[in-house]
Amino acid sequence: MTDLKDIKPKWVLVNENLYEISKFSHLPPQKRPHAICPVCRRPVILKLGEYNAHHYAHSSEDICTTAILKQHCT
Ligand SMILES: [Zn+2]
Repeated sequence: MTDLKDIKPKWVLVNENLYEISKFSHLPPQKRPHAICPVCRRPVILKLGEYNAHHYAHSSEDICTTAILKQHCT
């Protein structure tokens, strides 16, 4: 069982490797890789705006522990 406290919603799986999403912030949205949530392994949308902290978002219907964690943190 993975310790969920160690999983922050700023790490994604790309081609089965774990990357910090800030690594992709210099890329225009259409060039960003297809990222997958390391917890639920569903596709996620990278949010790499200038003003908010970099994070990723699930589709609204996805229930995932990282989404729950984020709600607790904000
Ligand atoms: Zn997830």
